[in-house]
Amino acid sequence: MVFDSIAEPGHEQISYFSDPETGLTAIVAIHDTSLGPSLGGTRIRDYESEEAALTDVLRLSEAMTYKAAATDLPLGGGKAVIIGDPEEVKTEDALEAYGRAVDCLAGRYITSVDINSGAEEMDIVARETDHVVGGTDGLGNPSEVTAHGVFSGIRACAEHTYGTDTVSDLDVVVQGLGKVGRLLAEELLEHGASVTISDVNQEAVDEFSAAHDVDVVAPDAVYEEPCDVFAPCAIGGVVNDETIDQLQCDIVAGSANNVLKERRHADALAERDILYAPDYVINAGGLVTVGKEYFGGTYEEAYEESEKIGDRLTEMIERAEANDSTVVDAAEAYAQERIDESDTVTPALPSN
Ligand code: NAD
Repeated sequence: MVFDSIAEPGHEQISYFSDPETGLTAIVAIHDTSLGPSLGGTRIRDYESEEAALTDVLRLSEAMTYKAAATDLPLGGGKAVIIGDPEEVKTEDALEAYGRAVDCLAGRYITSVDINSGAEEMDIVARETDHVVGGTDGLGNPSEVTAHGVFSGIRACAEHTYGTDTVSDLDVVVQGLGKVGRLLAEELLEHGASVTISDVNQEAVDEFSAAHDVDVVAPDAVYEEPCDVFAPCAIGGVVNDETIDQLQCDIVAGSANNVLKERRHADALAERDILYAPDYVINAGGLVTVGKEYFGGTYEEAYEESEKIGDRLTEMIERAEANDSTVVDAAEAYAQERIDESDTVTPALPSN
């Protein structure tokens, strides 16, 4: 039964850590190390159940494999969850214990920031292990690189759809004005696009619209707002049975993870002739940054590399057209090819 839960998605290793003295309860899932050490953030969350935490870490670590492979990075997919109320479980002692847990995986898993874990937490983890990136002495703000990669992806989608990547002709709706969304909106505005913003946080909307020439749409009206590009930069699952018929755009391309509620929504978008840029392809700029940090590159190199996201997306769109498939299918096939081509023996256990 234990092995059944990991067999289908093809995980190599699931490690459970419990340290009653510090209250640490964590799961690290290593999905695939064919292309290199697995890298993925540590999510700290008060899950409803242990099963929900396991489901999340298995799903997220698998997605990291495809994200790294589709981005041509020498990395595999992994992820970790620390279970509990972040306010209670984020103690120094527990994070140090977590650092020792990561360390005992001997570099097969490299950790980083995620929901409820930031640079300060990674600094504490780094007291106990070298296999961590994204601390305060890291390369720089990954969200900036993510936003720039999404911008490059939007241009590639525009080129395909309208025959020109000139952003100044585009009407873009940006959903979510967080770390990525506000930078994306700024870059679009700098290049002359018309931008409409939307956020559930009214303060963020007021602040941004006071400083920039943008239109604003209410969060519940965002899907039916006519535009060229809908850029989801807030939460997952926004393309679903309810919203799909409301969309009045030609392109869906944004930073949010798991934009499609279910896989079949890729087909539904294609049926409506809406081009969808797969999330893990277009939002890989953050991973490129932390990967650079681990392997010793610079922030400038990561920023420059994020510009290749547009070309990669174009290649996947062309492959999808050639095979009469969706871009999601083409992206998965591209990632899988890279994994299959690798000559690393899996699982790649440390060799001392
Ligand atoms: P964030 O938490 O900084 O910002 C999210 C914003 O979305 C907030 O302003 C929030 O108020 C808003 N929001 C939440 N629910 C909303 C809704 N229903 N309608 C409109 N706005 C809503 O997050 P972020 O770091 O900017 O990331 C945005 C998305 O991109 C997330 O899905 C994240 O997983 C993904 N992503 C981020 C990075 C990165 O480098 N930060 C990398 C890859 C993927």
